[in-house]
Amino acid sequence: MHAEKLQAIVLSTLDYGDSDRIASLFSLEHGRIKAFARGARTSRKRFGAALEAFARIEAQVRVREGLAGLQQAEIVTIYPRIRGDLPAIAHALYACEVVEAMTPEGHPLPRLYRLLAAYLDRLETETAADDSDRRFFEINLLNILGYRPSLESCPRCDTPFGTAGVLLQENGEPVCRACAPTGRPLHPSALKALGACMTTGTFGKVVFPPDLLTEGGALLDRAIATHAGRRLKSLEFLGQVTP
Ligand SMILES: [Zn+2]
Repeated sequence: MHAEKLQAIVLSTLDYGDSDRIASLFSLEHGRIKAFARGARTSRKRFGAALEAFARIEAQVRVREGLAGLQQAEIVTIYPRIRGDLPAIAHALYACEVVEAMTPEGHPLPRLYRLLAAYLDRLETETAADDSDRRFFEINLLNILGYRPSLESCPRCDTPFGTAGVLLQENGEPVCRACAPTGRPLHPSALKALGACMTTGTFGKVVFPPDLLTEGGALLDRAIATHAGRRLKSLEFLGQVTP
């Protein structure tokens, strides 16, 4: 079996034994894969500092089901500015954990790869990690993975949201007042702003006013918790270092 050259973002790593490391990679070519890096902690020559969370690398990988074999890795960028800024680190680790929790193994998702890379590039160049960017990343991730929430009309009765009050359900679904007796009230503008994030496709084009950021954020937090199926560890760190 020959080794393939892959573009990848390191989602997380796990030390194994005294000298090895298992890396969870999100690759452009094969989606999420687990790769075993023999001697990664002792051989600087083959891996250098490439196997760090949210580093972007070019990897020589023997791809197989289960655990792939990582032969060599070269850094494309380790995102040095992110690494010097705690809120940016927290956002980057969170983005990687969301992708790790919500993507199937061995299934190529090139649009999601480009979204994650664009988000890391954005965190690298922006001086302050912005929650609008996080929400932009999240709604586009949900959309790419087929979990796009219904933003224009009630998913249960098709009533357009413009005329009806909207209540956010525990699972992150916005529903009209006629269909659901309780829930967190949502302003239709928050849903519009989320919709705009999916049509522009560029970070920084949609800036949420604070109240819409809170409402849109509540929807996204619930939807991601529902689809990820577990609480994400990096959320706690994110909460500690961002206001
Ligand atoms: Zn309804």
